[in-house]
Amino acid sequence: MNIYKNKLINNSLRLNSIANYFIELTDKNDFIELHKFIKIKNLPVLVIGEGTNVVLPDIFEGIVVKPNFNEINFNEYNNTISAGSSVNWHEFVIHTINNNIVGFENLSSIPGSVGASPIQNIGAYGQEVSNLIESVDCYDYINNEFISLNNNDCNFSYRDSIFKKNNLLIYKLNFYTDSHKEHNLEYDSIKKYMTNNSIDPKNITTRDVSRMITDIRSITLPDPIEIPNAGSFFKNNVINKSDIKLDRFSIDELVLWEIDSEKVKVGTARLIELIKNELTKFDNVEIYENHSLVLITNKNANQKNVIDFAEHIKERIYDTFHITLEIEPAVISN
Ligand SMILES: Cc1cc2nc3c(=O)[nH]c(=O)nc-3n(C[C@H](O)[C@H](O)[C@H](O)COP(=O)(O)OP(=O)(O)OC[C@H]3O[C@@H](n4cnc5c(N)ncnc54)[C@H](O)[C@@H]3O)c2cc1C
Repeated sequence: MNIYKNKLINNSLRLNSIANYFIELTDKNDFIELHKFIKIKNLPVLVIGEGTNVVLPDIFEGIVVKPNFNEINFNEYNNTISAGSSVNWHEFVIHTINNNIVGFENLSSIPGSVGASPIQNIGAYGQEVSNLIESVDCYDYINNEFISLNNNDCNFSYRDSIFKKNNLLIYKLNFYTDSHKEHNLEYDSIKKYMTNNSIDPKNITTRDVSRMITDIRSITLPDPIEIPNAGSFFKNNVINKSDIKLDRFSIDELVLWEIDSEKVKVGTARLIELIKNELTKFDNVEIYENHSLVLITNKNANQKNVIDFAEHIKERIYDTFHITLEIEPAVISN
């Protein structure tokens, strides 16, 4: 285990954030040493992957832990494939495709690590990682215990799981290799892309689907290497349709997905688009022009700039639609 003091934490919003202690783990044997270190220092702990879904403070007065486990293995006995937490998610998706596994392709090009994928139950284009996970292997760094959670134990739901509130470091994930037989091409933007490019769904390979998703994403989402961002900044709320305030805009101007006779999932990007011109300008942070759910920074921003702007958006959305937005990335405090 390597311990660094006052180290910069890499993150895709490019916030200048320093960790008092930064620990890199390379081996399962490091866990006991980590547990002892945490006990002695008695400071808050943050497990970090690639930093693409966090809003970090200027100084994290605690211990940042970065697991470094890169192995990928097949288990033919129970038809699973396991991946270490630091394997890059998209590289893992490509690995599954190279091995003729179906089901991961719609999650192509989501930034970040395998280990973070269950935290907010990553999802895109009609697929969620919870449909692919068999079990999650974790280490409880407070109680010095190894725990394996099966899919049900993880309490997965839309952008949520049990991992958001506990002391577990995920070091390995086990995924089904045979849970999906067919491609899921039902999502509107996939259908549109296939029509526009005269793609026949009957003759499409898993690799083609992956490339198509990557292409669709590159049009709407900024590449964090060029434009700092953390992906979608707000969730899509599920609410009663009758609770939406509609004195300024009509229901037809919103994007709604019906859940049942009363409940709808509301497309937050459209809500923001509708009030975008009324927002106050803030330093160092703005809305990405091709996608209103994405906040981008100019590399000089800090956590306060980003959160102040997000709170301003939340206020304006509440005043206009009576909808309380929820921030999607993890906002880290000390
Ligand atoms: C351009 C862009 C597009 C995106 N598109 C999508 C999308 O389509 N769908 C989607 O769901 N998300 C999307 N995201 C969000 C992001 O890609 C995912 O949340 C991803 O899983 C984050 O991975 P990470 O390794 O960067 O996690 P980090 O940002 O490092 O961490 C995120 C959270 O997970 C915790 N964590 C990380 N690793 C571990 C571990 N090993 N054990 C325990 N806790 C851990 C952290 O403490 C933190 O709370 C997007 C982000 C960007 C920048």
